[in-house]
Amino acid sequence: MFDILVIGSGPAGVSAALTLSAAGRSVAMASIMSSYLTDKTPATDYYGLEGFTGQEIYLKGVRQAKHAGVVFFDQQITGLSRQGNRFIAAGQTPLEAACVLLATGTPADHSLPDFGLPFAQKGVHLQAEQDGFYYRNRMVGVVGAGCYGVHQAMLLSRMARTVTLFTNDQRIPSVPPPIGLNRYPIDRLEGQDRLEKIVFENGTALNLDGLFIANRIADAVDLCVGVGAQTNGAYPILDPQGMTSVAGVFAAGDCTGNTHTLQEQTYDGYRVAKNILSFFAK
Ligand SMILES: Cc1cc2nc3c(=O)[nH]c(=O)nc-3n(C[C@H](O)[C@H](O)[C@H](O)COP(=O)(O)OP(=O)(O)OC[C@H]3O[C@@H](n4cnc5c(N)ncnc54)[C@H](O)[C@@H]3O)c2cc1C
Repeated sequence: MFDILVIGSGPAGVSAALTLSAAGRSVAMASIMSSYLTDKTPATDYYGLEGFTGQEIYLKGVRQAKHAGVVFFDQQITGLSRQGNRFIAAGQTPLEAACVLLATGTPADHSLPDFGLPFAQKGVHLQAEQDGFYYRNRMVGVVGAGCYGVHQAMLLSRMARTVTLFTNDQRIPSVPPPIGLNRYPIDRLEGQDRLEKIVFENGTALNLDGLFIANRIADAVDLCVGVGAQTNGAYPILDPQGMTSVAGVFAAGDCTGNTHTLQEQTYDGYRVAKNILSFFAK
């Protein structure tokens, strides 16, 4: 088990990881590269890194953290849960830590696709951790073709009678049993007062009690929901130290809603890391 798991290795995550590691804490960092970091525009305003692209800055940050002793995992964290006094992060390699720092950057798009809008909270939901229990022994589906979709489907498979992953025309090799896989493009949802069936472009249909939209990368809000930390729907709710309503789970950087520059988020990661060290000292 690590002292701290940092999720996200942009400027907030890396500066926090460096601060925590320098203070003698064992630090794991899990991150995937975000799309904006593949932006090829060279930085002009970042101290000491003139001419470097977003991608180069990201890779330099990860390299620096590794040199400082941070154990890096190149993977998406798809869920967070709590067991006693430790947090378990789901992903390709599950990780355990006493404390978690969410530094996941710009929030994911949590809006429902057009076909889901008429059934919002009437069969169509965003997080299995929050609404999955309504579907005990029922037939549910998950829309998503990435790791987060598979993770949501796995969670639902513990309670629902059947779970199908709908990839909506995207190709994925397979899904773990008992999850079913359906690749047909979705046309619409139908139902009287609430969701009753999903209809595909090829005219076929499937009866369904619930559908979870999970075609995104898990962001800070998705991860907060797993441990019961309060959010305002877009961002975690934090105290002045950067801690969520769950002791031991912190957030820093763009994922707090305080969207700024590389320089400011580098400082925010440092600031919250100092508060995490005080939290450990107590
Ligand atoms: C297009 C664009 C250009 C910009 N240009 C500039 C500029 O020139 N100068 C400047 O100062 N600022 C610029 N900014 C702003 C600056 O990049 C951000 O303020 C800063 O990167 C935020 O840092 P962060 O550490 O909070 O998050 P990020 O830098 O966004 O890092 C978060 C990381 O976490 C990863 N992640 C997210 N969810 C998960 C998960 N579930 N599991 C694992 N990893 C995850 C993401 O993929 C990403 O790599 C730009 C922003 C954008 C979008």
